[in-house]
Amino acid sequence: MGKLTGKTALVTGSSRGMGRATAVRLAREGALVAVHYATGRDAAEETVTTIEGEGGSAFTIQAELGMPGDVHELFLGLAAGLKERTGGTDLHILINNAGRMGGLSVEDTTPEAFDRLMAVNAKAPFFLIQRALANMPDGGRIINISSGLTHFANPDEIAYAMTKGAVEQLALHFAKLLGPRGITVNTVAPGITRNSNPAFDIPAAVEQMAGLSAFNGVGEPEDIADVVAFLAGEDACWITGSFVDASGGTLLG
Ligand code: NDP
Repeated sequence: MGKLTGKTALVTGSSRGMGRATAVRLAREGALVAVHYATGRDAAEETVTTIEGEGGSAFTIQAELGMPGDVHELFLGLAAGLKERTGGTDLHILINNAGRMGGLSVEDTTPEAFDRLMAVNAKAPFFLIQRALANMPDGGRIINISSGLTHFANPDEIAYAMTKGAVEQLALHFAKLLGPRGITVNTVAPGITRNSNPAFDIPAAVEQMAGLSAFNGVGEPEDIADVVAFLAGEDACWITGSFVDASGGTLLG
């Protein structure tokens, strides 16, 4: 029996990247996982196929975050998927992983682009937590994915880093609010982690990115999934409101 047997989990943005690795890892521990995506339906279904291939359980839900009605739409899909499989709508674990990079210079950051980034990366996680609390039993887990860029200067990602700075506030304040219910709320901050960005296909670029880490490597999605899985489990019941540096030592300078 896995450590998360009998638990249900929602991983936003788990069609690919570290969201997918996290969904697979939580399912391996026994959780029933809702694999959320915005546009990558085939990729999300691939995540479910991988989970089922390992004997786990998962289903997909689609909702584009950062749009009016996003959270409502997501929870309609979530409630239907949970009800069908468990007979109820309890959600024990929420992983706020979905996010977009800015990739915009200061000059190119328009008010519209800024608002969009903030809506997806920071506003949506707040309202997802607000909505999830109605379905979350005592002892639940909330984990928000931030970025090492809240502690490491990069002038090309100021707006993005601001969104992640906002995300980090969620753990501080919600942890205090939800402590009496035994619900923990933590932040995980990855460093550069392999995803489908074409930069990871260029050896010279990878070497340069690797040089930022104390281990001289880029993170793998599974490295982050392992940290999230620990925080999602019973062994982490005494950790709440924390900032977990999962940057491979990048923040050591
Ligand atoms: P990817 O770029 O590989 O995947 C992003 C995921 O988020 C996809 O599943 C995507 O869905 C989903 N998503 C993006 N925008 C939206 C939206 N508007 N609504 C709903 N879903 C959306 O992600 P990574 O694995 O690289 O990153 C995951 C998290 O980690 C993000 O929050 C990111 O900011 C953070 N991070 C990443 C780092 C890295 O180096 N990779 C470093 C530090 C932090 P779909 O494909 O269906 O559109």
